[in-house]
Amino acid sequence: MAQRLLVRGGVAVVRGELAKLDIMIAGAQIAAIGAALDPGGAIVLDASGLTVGPGFIDVHVHGGGDVSFFSKDPGSVDAYARWAPRNGVTGFLVSTVGRDAGDTSALLGALAPAMRPAEGAEPLGFHLEGPFLNPERKGAFPRSYLRPPSVAEFEAFQQAARGHIRQVTVAPELEGALDLIRAVADSGSVPAIGHTDATYAEANAGFAAGARHVTHLFNAMRPLHQRDGGPIAAALLQAGTCELICDGAHVAPETLRLAYSLLGPARTVIVTDNLEMAGASGHDGQFGGERLSIKGNAAVRADGTIAGSVATMDQHVRNAVRFLGIPVQEVFRLCSANPAVVAGASARKGRIEPGFDADVVLLNEALEVVATVCRGEIAFLREPGRLRR
Ligand SMILES: [Zn+2]
Repeated sequence: MAQRLLVRGGVAVVRGELAKLDIMIAGAQIAAIGAALDPGGAIVLDASGLTVGPGFIDVHVHGGGDVSFFSKDPGSVDAYARWAPRNGVTGFLVSTVGRDAGDTSALLGALAPAMRPAEGAEPLGFHLEGPFLNPERKGAFPRSYLRPPSVAEFEAFQQAARGHIRQVTVAPELEGALDLIRAVADSGSVPAIGHTDATYAEANAGFAAGARHVTHLFNAMRPLHQRDGGPIAAALLQAGTCELICDGAHVAPETLRLAYSLLGPARTVIVTDNLEMAGASGHDGQFGGERLSIKGNAAVRADGTIAGSVATMDQHVRNAVRFLGIPVQEVFRLCSANPAVVAGASARKGRIEPGFDADVVLLNEALEVVATVCRGEIAFLREPGRLRR
């Protein structure tokens, strides 16, 4: 019989509401949810005084805890998967790209075998952030990494990745971008608009071609202008989801609040854009041959360009509650349910529901992670006294 684990006595986030409910886990799945469930021999995880929600899913992350997804070592994905549950993360997309087309294929091919559930958080596929980006809005990517959109190249990447590419960031104004967006959508992956200098009309053409997600709204894109709203106005007014980096460094809290007033809980996806220096306190790193140093919650280049965030997902969650002024049950939509849709895993992840994967995070009143369960296994436990065998 599969191992059973009862998460008992907590306040669970179920169907968007808070309720005092126990969660019975059998093997890797949630078996039952109910008030005062009988343990009947199950291991008990005492959740009293804690909020119990679906584990966080990060669809935009380049590494963390000294692990980088720009490495061709599949062990990097496994190592990140073991590290991430301390931040409440139970699923993620590996965001990466190589120096050129051949290097990107080699990178995807090397990491593809790691795309399966193992120990810790589950890798749910790749997010290709690049190479089809506008050099004018390249952010921290070296210009030499970037290439014009190409359906043939995307298909070669998808083949190298064994079909695991889930999200592709594209600048819609580039020549060939609309064909690429259509090809990505037809393949079942998510075309996302980002790193773009598009006008409002060009961005809308991207959405009309099938883009249904936006990569870190506000960052690495043409700013909002009163006479042409550009990609930001188009993103806020379309129907798809938008990523927001809630580290307080990438986007000002008032700008996040403004965006959220339009996006609402159904269209907001919180992402970390974490680099390997995240959670690896106080040391410098590098990206694309440029040295990076940590400034507050951001990793910045010598010229001041922000390269990514070093605030971990649990910090983004605390910030989101504070910056957006939302109740804790709502933040789980932004960090679990909505990213599960982007990752193509919403039929089994992102909600606490019988039959769903037993990916659960337990937070205390300060919204700090006390325990994380990944597919029924306790992957992180800060207070060992809560476990009763
Ligand atoms: Zn990124």
